[in-house]
Amino acid sequence: MFVQYPLPYAFDALAPHIDALTVETHYGKHHAAYTAAFNKAAEDAGLADKTAEEILTSLDSVSDPALKNALRNNGGGFYNHNLYFEQLSPTPASAPTGKLAEAIDSAFGSFDVLKEKLSAASVGQFGSGWGWLVADASGKLSIISTANQDTPITLGLTPIVAVDVWEHAYYLGYKNLRAAYVKELFAVIDWNVAAHRYEDAIS
Ligand code: MN
Repeated sequence: MFVQYPLPYAFDALAPHIDALTVETHYGKHHAAYTAAFNKAAEDAGLADKTAEEILTSLDSVSDPALKNALRNNGGGFYNHNLYFEQLSPTPASAPTGKLAEAIDSAFGSFDVLKEKLSAASVGQFGSGWGWLVADASGKLSIISTANQDTPITLGLTPIVAVDVWEHAYYLGYKNLRAAYVKELFAVIDWNVAAHRYEDAIS
């Protein structure tokens, strides 16, 4: 049974950057719906004993197209939102340290350049989707975007930071101003969580 990451902060804890109703709706309605639908699809596909990672990295083994689609969309929705909510904090580390900081300098030149590029990729994603800082198997960092609920692990990449740019992530607080939301989201991203993800990825 797939369970949503339990939020260690209150719905209003990320305000004014992300407002309480947005967090409550995003987590309690959207993420909850993906999770419920993923559980049903995994059950229907006989995959309920697998991990989300196992399912999302072997979608091609599911022959029924509708079931494969349900696992891809709802499994991605479940998994991506766990990453998203886990990396947010009312008291975030505002910059990475250690191996992640070194890898960022090596790949992008500086943390500021990384933030600019991740922001641009996220804002520029056409339609619903995600911007990502990811690591490949060698630990090399890059920035990608994915459509809908497609997730980097399906592409063989490890997600380090997840930027949700579906309208449901910002419309209540920022209306159509996606760039304003992404800028404020950076104020609540905990780079300690990102650094731990990176260390796990290269260990
Ligand atoms: Mn979302």
